[in-house]
Amino acid sequence: VRCVTGSVFRRLRLHGAEARCDAWMAMSEAGFGSQKTPVAAGAAATWGSYRCPILPLILERGWDSLYFQPRAAQILESDLVRWHKSASDDSYILPNAYLFSGPSGCGQEEGFVLLAATVLCLEPRSGAGTEVPAPCWSCKSCRMMLDGTHPDAQFLEPEGNTYLVDFIRERVVQESKYSGTGGGQRFVLIRESERLSRAASNALLRTIEEPLGRVTFVLAASPDRDAILPTLASRCREVAFLPIPPARLEELLRNSGYDPERAHAAILGGDGTLEGTAQAAETGSYADFSRQAAELIWPVFCDASANPMEVAGMLRESIDSVVEEVKASLDSEIRQAEQADEELGLGSESGRAQALRNSKHRRLRRVETAICRQVVTVCETLALACGLVSADLKEKASQRLAQLGPVVAQDAEALRSSPVSGSNSSDCLDRLTALTRQARNSLALNPRVDLWLDGLVVELYEIVSPV
Ligand SMILES: [Zn+2]
Repeated sequence: VRCVTGSVFRRLRLHGAEARCDAWMAMSEAGFGSQKTPVAAGAAATWGSYRCPILPLILERGWDSLYFQPRAAQILESDLVRWHKSASDDSYILPNAYLFSGPSGCGQEEGFVLLAATVLCLEPRSGAGTEVPAPCWSCKSCRMMLDGTHPDAQFLEPEGNTYLVDFIRERVVQESKYSGTGGGQRFVLIRESERLSRAASNALLRTIEEPLGRVTFVLAASPDRDAILPTLASRCREVAFLPIPPARLEELLRNSGYDPERAHAAILGGDGTLEGTAQAAETGSYADFSRQAAELIWPVFCDASANPMEVAGMLRESIDSVVEEVKASLDSEIRQAEQADEELGLGSESGRAQALRNSKHRRLRRVETAICRQVVTVCETLALACGLVSADLKEKASQRLAQLGPVVAQDAEALRSSPVSGSNSSDCLDRLTALTRQARNSLALNPRVDLWLDGLVVELYEIVSPV
């Protein structure tokens, strides 16, 4: 079997390779990738289960689109310049492994795709006035990259709460024996790499130390870089991604074609990540969720007869309705992809629709987790309204307080001087801080949302309910 570049796929027998090869062949025959198709404003690319909201920006500006992560971009760009200069004699090869640290959803996916697309591009170009090579976005390789079906760029994520060693052996160790199609470089993104089990980390470590093919692994760690096996982390070139300030996030969405008003509303509703904020901008109930949650939780703080279980139940309903709305939009996205696949003559197994179907559950789960995190943030904000919050949260919470509506603000004013059931306010504050920290941490374990909510609201009620 020959691929479009004329080289032989050596990895056909490996898991999943057939499907990717079929996709490549079918797209090639359908003439896909042979012409530049304009990308509409607000368009998104899907890589595995990740949906990139700043695609128009990436296509227009290439590496410059990563301006919101200047230091990370600088490291990757300088590696690429060295790689590009030594292309003829192979005197410099890319690191076997990178560690993209920092909170997830802050450009790690975009950085990975830019890196892989640049190296794999068939006709890379130089940006204006810089030496940094950039993807052309119109060759076949680039088009497959944008579609998330490139055989040499893999996106891995854990199937449950952890990466099991068998999964790593089968999907990473085995495949790393082979270089990319045509003997070139391959790229593997390992999402949520803090979820690698110890055995899996060790298997990966050996592969990174002695890769047989030309493979660059990118470990994306979120949210806890320290959870990565230190020996593994020390073998990686670390690239730090920082949280994106709200104003910058808003600007990124606006520049990617989102409606300015919705982009602004989404900053309050989103979870601080690119994907989550874009989702909030597209989903009305999501953007408005914070305010709604605040109204539901507020009685816990100011009404002695509030029933915490009832509050948790109403919160659950309101979370469900956001998830339902997102689900409907994913379904319509899948239907559109099915049509596009059909026009390209792709089978139901190899097209983009299938990739979207596979990732649907994970994306919904991510939305749900992001909303749960918002519930915690709302609790902190309301605690601030009552004067119960530690100093380091004050600034963050005060930005949101103003948005919670005049009723809450007025009540809060009155409450600030009234007593709470805790023995004293500093005891209360300690317990609140512990509660919110624990609630956030336990979200990483994919808990059942109703139980998680019950636990959070009941404990909150015990801490802050009025006497
Ligand atoms: Zn290209």
